[in-house]
Amino acid sequence: MNKIEFEKYENDYNSKSPKDFTDINSLGFPLYDSNDNQPLSDEQRYDMIVSLEKKVAEMLDILRISRKDPNSTHTPLRVAKMLVNELLIGRYEHPPKITVFPNRKHVNNLIISQGIEVMSMCSHHWQTISGRCVIGYIPGDYVVGVSKLSRIVQWFARRPQIQEELGEQIADYIQKMLKPKALGVVIKAKHFCMIARGVEESEEETEMITSVMRGYMLNDQSLRNEFLNLIRNY
Ligand SMILES: [Zn+2]
Repeated sequence: MNKIEFEKYENDYNSKSPKDFTDINSLGFPLYDSNDNQPLSDEQRYDMIVSLEKKVAEMLDILRISRKDPNSTHTPLRVAKMLVNELLIGRYEHPPKITVFPNRKHVNNLIISQGIEVMSMCSHHWQTISGRCVIGYIPGDYVVGVSKLSRIVQWFARRPQIQEELGEQIADYIQKMLKPKALGVVIKAKHFCMIARGVEESEEETEMITSVMRGYMLNDQSLRNEFLNLIRNY
């Protein structure tokens, strides 16, 4: 294919819109958004890994990477397992079991959990998003263990995401579970689709910050300032 043919191919490709695609895949299974969740049984996951292994092997073939290279011999199955069982596991696992506790002392102040690891994948380029998340809330009738907040973040992060939607999904979930009076979810992360592709040298240092505010945190300026001050050096 020459350059002009490729540019035509690229133009046709880029003119496709979401409605040009089907809701069911070639194996008869329903397709859904990259950051949605539909739990699979262990058997379904094994089947998925085996189907995927063949496609990853095909990708290596196309890229002319020999599996006689001992470093690549078992790469297709390794990559398939990594995608299904680790990087994208949030799509296929049930939500984490979370126990909430009554707010017996009527705590009416900010509770902040910071340093929550965010390890995700950008849905545009399938490159790593790596960073941290801070969650702050003023409880209503319930409080929750800090480790549980981290499990919720992992469950949503382990899917192909965009950072903006990741923050919204986490906030929606906590809102529904805890019904806090105020809630803030701040994510600071590096995007390897910028770093790895070398868009610009300075991109290596670039971090993206997203913040989602709910409840009093939206309208109460002094509360929001208190929250942002507490996490400022974070
Ligand atoms: Zn990207």
